[in-house]
Amino acid sequence: MNETIKADFFASADSLKAAGRADYELSAALARFCTFRIGGPADMAVWPGDIDALSDLILAAESSGTRYLVCGSASNILFSDEGFRGAIIFTTKLKKICVNENKIHAECGAPLSLLAMSAQRASLSGLEFAYGIPGSLGGAVYMNAGAYGGEISQVLRSSAYLSPKSGKIALLTAEEHDFGYRRSSYMERDDIILSAEFELLPGNCDEIQRKMDENMEARREKQPLDYPSAGSMFKRAPGHFTAALIDKAGLKGCKTGGAEVSAKHAGFVINTGNATAADVVALTEYIASVVFEKYGVRIEREVRLIGP
Ligand SMILES: Cc1cc2nc3c(=O)[nH]c(=O)nc-3n(C[C@H](O)[C@H](O)[C@H](O)COP(=O)(O)OP(=O)(O)OC[C@H]3O[C@@H](n4cnc5c(N)ncnc54)[C@H](O)[C@@H]3O)c2cc1C
Repeated sequence: MNETIKADFFASADSLKAAGRADYELSAALARFCTFRIGGPADMAVWPGDIDALSDLILAAESSGTRYLVCGSASNILFSDEGFRGAIIFTTKLKKICVNENKIHAECGAPLSLLAMSAQRASLSGLEFAYGIPGSLGGAVYMNAGAYGGEISQVLRSSAYLSPKSGKIALLTAEEHDFGYRRSSYMERDDIILSAEFELLPGNCDEIQRKMDENMEARREKQPLDYPSAGSMFKRAPGHFTAALIDKAGLKGCKTGGAEVSAKHAGFVINTGNATAADVVALTEYIASVVFEKYGVRIEREVRLIGP
């Protein structure tokens, strides 16, 4: 066992696995578990099977001094070519969704598309925008995911979180998330989102389905969904459409190694097959420098880089 995974953490993962409440892999190639299909091995990747198992693992990591990162679908992440020294805890098995009147309560790993479909089936409107975003609830709350005029901040009522240091579980009200464009207060805390509740409006299920289909069609038409990526590489710069600036700068199709500015959508950097994280970083730095040189606009990466 690599010394970054402390014995107590390993024992906790092992006993959860024996009880059928978690799964783990050692030397797990992260490229297999993220939408970019890039990244070297993590010393350990763990998939808790229930919320208590997630809490147990986080507390064991804290108390044993094991470095860890909680991820959802890893669709907004670029893992390092060197992988990750420690444990990546994936929440993708935690996807219970419960509809009660006009509210939906769901666990942190619930896929956004499944959440939108559950709302549609219950004739609840407000989550249509989330259909087709390949992330989980936790990742979406963390960065206030949004599309087509909608975003998490418009429908979130509260989230439940675990404070890793104290072990305390508490609720955060909508206001306390301090949402902004692709940001929430979770970005400044080390708390782990366990679940969230959304408040939606009664709607017509056919109309809701129609909006979801329209959004999906727009994605298929405009986004390079045939290639691995992490979605839009950059945030919108205030007063500018970043993809339009990149396009205007003539950067579509620009390549570094296996990383390429999508010819279909200039805001996407795609993995054409053998891209490394170093290729992506070099290309994004180049894009940002050209855009700054030509238009004096500083563009900031939206995708989170995870160092080894
Ligand atoms: C093809 C494509 C299209 C996309 N389209 C959109 C779009 O339209 N709009 C949009 O906003 N995004 C879009 N994205 C980006 C991405 O899907 C979203 O940002 C999504 O919300 C990320 O969720 P995730 O579960 O993948 O998070 P991850 O990538 O796993 O994690 C992102 C961050 O959230 C943190 N995190 C995850 N779960 C938790 C938790 N339970 N508690 C605390 N922190 C947590 C992680 O540590 C990390 O810092 C797209 C991506 C792709 C590949």
